[in-house]
Amino acid sequence: MHYLTKLTLLFLSFVSILTAHDNIKRAVNFPNIPGYKTLACDFHTHTVFSDGSVWPDIRVQEALKDQLDAIAMTEHLEIQNWKDDIPHPDRNRSFELASKYAKGSGLIIINGSEITRKMPPGHANAIFIKDANKLLIEDPLEVYMEAKKQGAFIFWNHPHWIAQSPKGEIPLDPMHLKLIKDGLMHGIEVVNDTTYSDEALQLALDYNLTIIGTSDIHGIIDWQYKTALGGHRPVTLVFATEKTTKSIKKALFSGRTAVWFNNNLIGKYERLLPLLNESLTIKEPRYIKNSTVVNLKIKNNSGIPYVMRNVGEHNFYSDTDIFTIEANSEKIIDVKTKTKLRKFDLQFEIINAITAPNTHPVIKLSVRSKW
Ligand code: ZN
Repeated sequence: MHYLTKLTLLFLSFVSILTAHDNIKRAVNFPNIPGYKTLACDFHTHTVFSDGSVWPDIRVQEALKDQLDAIAMTEHLEIQNWKDDIPHPDRNRSFELASKYAKGSGLIIINGSEITRKMPPGHANAIFIKDANKLLIEDPLEVYMEAKKQGAFIFWNHPHWIAQSPKGEIPLDPMHLKLIKDGLMHGIEVVNDTTYSDEALQLALDYNLTIIGTSDIHGIIDWQYKTALGGHRPVTLVFATEKTTKSIKKALFSGRTAVWFNNNLIGKYERLLPLLNESLTIKEPRYIKNSTVVNLKIKNNSGIPYVMRNVGEHNFYSDTDIFTIEANSEKIIDVKTKTKLRKFDLQFEIINAITAPNTHPVIKLSVRSKW
């Protein structure tokens, strides 16, 4: 073989190793839960078809790098920054182009629009719409009604946004309550981009709104979330029976979601518990010779590190009451049971999982030990 060919091959294999490594490290990895697939979705993205900086193919490529299952194209209906340079007569173009680029990749593209108004009602996304052009309506309530007519799932965007709420609180108005009551508001962003709101989470719990977390990306995912340094975009984890648009929509209307944000998990207790139970398992428990200390491994099957606080009746020989189990790895724990037990439980509060403001779920791990 010619040495230049050899060099080229060597270079190409090096590039492919690098690329593969990049994709493995940044892939979203959460286990499925009983009865449902865990799908990673970003339901709020922009391109040059509103006020974003990229063509829709870049949104598709970023989502494929992140190994997302679905993204929604949600251009502002009312903000058209580049319309003198990019005429935009058909408001479904962003969705159509992204769908074309995603063809055959397995990535689901959802058609959406951002209804962009001053507070109230502020900004909202309508996703699973059929025709964005029909949403170009002046009256704020009539837009929501048209979106509902199209079968849309509608969620309140960044309700805590300081541009519309300087204290970062939720400016809940009778108009919002009416939207919720009339079935025109189904979800709420608890996480938007780099921000999180306890108050939005509380509102979701109080009014049974679906919990959503999105990137609202306008620029480049890798720059915004520093993916090269291990950062990740916020995603909504959707617990769906199948990986289809229909199944994702059904899950959203049923509130079957959680949010992954800055390596925290946010969601209703009944949604987080099955995910935590599938993520953490006990392996190879065995009493250390001539002792009542059990050596065991806790395996983390998910792509998020878990920060655990011991709240059970036994303490540990080599750890304090707080430790972290890194993503996709195992940690050895030595449990002091005082007497030899065939069966016992460990109980942990998962500090970086949030089921309500200042509230972290407790999980139970059952151990069947040998000696
Ligand atoms: Zn937006």
